[in-house]
Amino acid sequence: MNRISVAQPKLAGNEKNYVLECLDTNWISSNGKYIGAFEESFAKFCGVKHAIAANNGTTALHLALVALDLKPGDEVIIPTVTYIATANAVRYCGATPVLVDVCQETMNIDPREIERKITPKTRGIIPVHLYGHPADMDPINEIAQTHQLWVLEDAAEAHGAEVRGRRVGSLGTCATFSFFGNKIITTGEGGMVTTNDDDLAARLRLFRGQGMDPNRRYWFPVIGYNYRMTNIQAAIGLAQMEGIDKALSDRETLAGWYNEALAGLQNEIVLPQQAPWAKQVYWMYNIFLRDGDGTKRDAVMRHLDEMGIETRPVFYPMHVLPPYHEETAYPVADLWAQRGINLPTHQDLTRADVQRIADSLKRALA
Ligand SMILES: *Cc1c(COP(=O)(O)O)cnc(C)c1O
Repeated sequence: MNRISVAQPKLAGNEKNYVLECLDTNWISSNGKYIGAFEESFAKFCGVKHAIAANNGTTALHLALVALDLKPGDEVIIPTVTYIATANAVRYCGATPVLVDVCQETMNIDPREIERKITPKTRGIIPVHLYGHPADMDPINEIAQTHQLWVLEDAAEAHGAEVRGRRVGSLGTCATFSFFGNKIITTGEGGMVTTNDDDLAARLRLFRGQGMDPNRRYWFPVIGYNYRMTNIQAAIGLAQMEGIDKALSDRETLAGWYNEALAGLQNEIVLPQQAPWAKQVYWMYNIFLRDGDGTKRDAVMRHLDEMGIETRPVFYPMHVLPPYHEETAYPVADLWAQRGINLPTHQDLTRADVQRIADSLKRALA
């Protein structure tokens, strides 16, 4: 039987044509028409004024934090359950990520836990729209306003997700996205920062391009970075944008198949939730075992692997990883992160694949 991979890109549109055009015209580096076209298309998709492309999602995060003027000694609030890039980007600035527990239903930062972690050193909050489900942005923005903090959405896993009808990327001070090969759309490696703030957009462009004055060549008023995206990446990105509506509807269909196929297992597993105010985009279709710890979860994953089905564990919380280790208890993350499994989620899965995964999961649980 075929192995079913947990994620894979879908390159079914103009990707090849556009890349060949880059090669044929010699525009393979970080100038060229596709960069602006991709940025414009992405800004429109998110409903924001500015989109600034970067060479990956991690540099997009770092770039945003530099443009927001994050400094050594500052603190930034982040959820303890996230991909490590969120925490690392804060550290790259010499600042400290301050961890907050998550809500069990969505594994996103729990707004009720944020305020007691705010100190005079706090500069901002990074809600992460984890696995495609948006964080609860309204209370987060309220807290930020009260304490005069910026809000940076880490939307790396949630292109197209919505909070009360508005797309992520437009809901904070700025937002970052990733286009790694397993994300909802891909450029191989790639990232984006979105914002409605004109001054911030100018700073993002400045720091992305080594800090060079846009009006004076080789004049560098600040220390910047080379975080530019290439025209080849952007060519793939523009083609992916032409297919993004289909990518989102394919994922919604897939989630519906899973919900149906797994409905009978709900005494043993919790299916993914969608808050009433949210539209989630299922970057990963996640299930949670109702009991047991990481050992049981890992055993279920091993059985699935033996049946040819690749899965992933939910991210380890930051506070259990060596660079960010804390003895503090984060009760929801401590209990639920070790029970979570990402099931295969990509556009080439068929209804029969989903049935096979559900049948295998039933056997693995037994
Ligand atoms: C993928 C991801 C990133 C980093 O993106 P890269 O493109 O892999 O550098 C950042 N944050 C989250 C939540 C992610 O899932």
